[in-house]
Amino acid sequence: NLILAFESSCDETSVAVIENGSKILANIVATQINSHKRFGGVVPEVASRHHIEAITLCVADALEQAQVSYEDLDAVAVTYGPGLVGALLVGVAAAKAVAFAHNLPLIPVNHMAGHIYAARFVSPLKFPALALLVSGGHTELVYLAGPTDFKIIGETRDDAAGEAYDKVGRVLGLSYPSGKEIDELAHQGHDSFHFPRAMENEDNFDFSFSGLKSAFINTVHHADQVGESLDKADLAASFQASAVDVLAHKTVKALRKFDVKQLILAGGVAANKGLRARLDQELTAFPEVELIKAPLKLCGDNAAMIGAAGYEAYQAGIRADLDLNAEPSLEFEWLD
Ligand code: ATP
Ligand code: MG
Ligand code: FE
Repeated sequence: NLILAFESSCDETSVAVIENGSKILANIVATQINSHKRFGGVVPEVASRHHIEAITLCVADALEQAQVSYEDLDAVAVTYGPGLVGALLVGVAAAKAVAFAHNLPLIPVNHMAGHIYAARFVSPLKFPALALLVSGGHTELVYLAGPTDFKIIGETRDDAAGEAYDKVGRVLGLSYPSGKEIDELAHQGHDSFHFPRAMENEDNFDFSFSGLKSAFINTVHHADQVGESLDKADLAASFQASAVDVLAHKTVKALRKFDVKQLILAGGVAANKGLRARLDQELTAFPEVELIKAPLKLCGDNAAMIGAAGYEAYQAGIRADLDLNAEPSLEFEWLD
């Protein structure tokens, strides 16, 4: 089985060829980061234009690298949400064009299901499982009842974890996106500021990062006003200690309540070294749960993960018609 997969929900144009849902024959990722850096974030209109410019080249590169032609394909998978509507539409239109021209089934994929399936390239998923999904736009704990049956059990009430990383990074004068750089700085400093750990003791699986972000920003601004200079590495270490603490705390709480075979760590922030190490450590208390961390290279947006999720949807008989539209606010449902 060969799937051609498309991802264009944000600022990466990506096309992949995936064999049997688990082998990457090609995964072309054209990032637009350099175009968005000077604005300190993703500019939707700029993103759409770059996707249009890049997508046909990405398809050609993916097919060439995989050494396959359209005739070899079994299906086309595409991210149809959540994300920026104009960006999503480019991938959706391209996928529909290929599906129509080559008479191939079209598989609609939720971008967040894609992030979860990045873990599939480490090990097959076993259900039921839990996923800690941490990215630029989402921070949620998800119960995975089956290969295509995902339900939210908790989520952020305000900022996503990655969004908080990027916002405090801007205050430190780091360039966008700053998660990786803060992670590196954090390992050179100490948690000397003891920023708040929001909602840690509340009886739910929700998160909040805006208080942490504000505490951080206020600390930096106050120091600026009094002409004091703070140690960047200590600031980063303190921010990361608080973020990782609350993520780990709620994940452990969920593992105590739900009997699962695996815990999956995925999304852009899953690349965080502090978070990966902390979950390794926490999981020693759950020997029956297998921890699967998305590979570092597949934590950020890419089409390989969309192809892996698309394969499972394909096996489950999920198909879209050629009137498939982008759904910018697509979300998993809540667990009853
Ligand atoms: P979503 O998937 O919710 O639609 P997105 O696709 O924009 O949002 P991703 O590409 O999954 O988000 O992740 C990007 C985020 O990951 C950015 O906020 C970035 O700062 C963050 N990030 C990347 N590496 C690290 C790291 N090592 N530590 C913390 N954050 C990181
Ligand atoms: Mg991105
Ligand atoms: Fe993403």
